[in-house]
Amino acid sequence: MAITALPFRMAGDRRDRPIYRMTYEVKIEKPPIWNDICFAFGIIPQKVLFTYGGTIYNPDNVKIPDDIIEHEKVHMEQQNHNVNDAALWWGKFLRDPAFRVDQESKAYAVQYRFVCKFVTDRNQRFNFRMELARLLSGPLYGNSISQKDAEKLIYKLSGVK
Ligand SMILES: [Zn+2]
Repeated sequence: MAITALPFRMAGDRRDRPIYRMTYEVKIEKPPIWNDICFAFGIIPQKVLFTYGGTIYNPDNVKIPDDIIEHEKVHMEQQNHNVNDAALWWGKFLRDPAFRVDQESKAYAVQYRFVCKFVTDRNQRFNFRMELARLLSGPLYGNSISQKDAEKLIYKLSGVK
């Protein structure tokens, strides 16, 4: 689950398209657990994507940046690419803030590492990391971690020096 409307986009993030070995499909509709998500989080902002099994649900039909594909692919792996595990994953995700932070920090770390392949400037990397940390610590995931801790976690998990 990620919002595509990042105010800060890295230059060059459309370059060097990765080879997508993992198959997935994108559906322009709300995810199966939409009502549960609304119940748990209240109003869902526009331009949010939801992975359910091997499918990315893109209800607002937004253009999905490559780094966010990488983010959602982590959730596909976490859900073992199938709808039964996706149902269990979402149930836990909506109930358990620690699980949310655990799963999302891994997805954001992969997203960050992907962008760092194209962006070597330390300040740009830091700004992007802070932007991801702002999202991870924000209302989209129930304000479950501080921004500073989120930034440290993304940095550590990314393995990027
Ligand atoms: Zn996510």
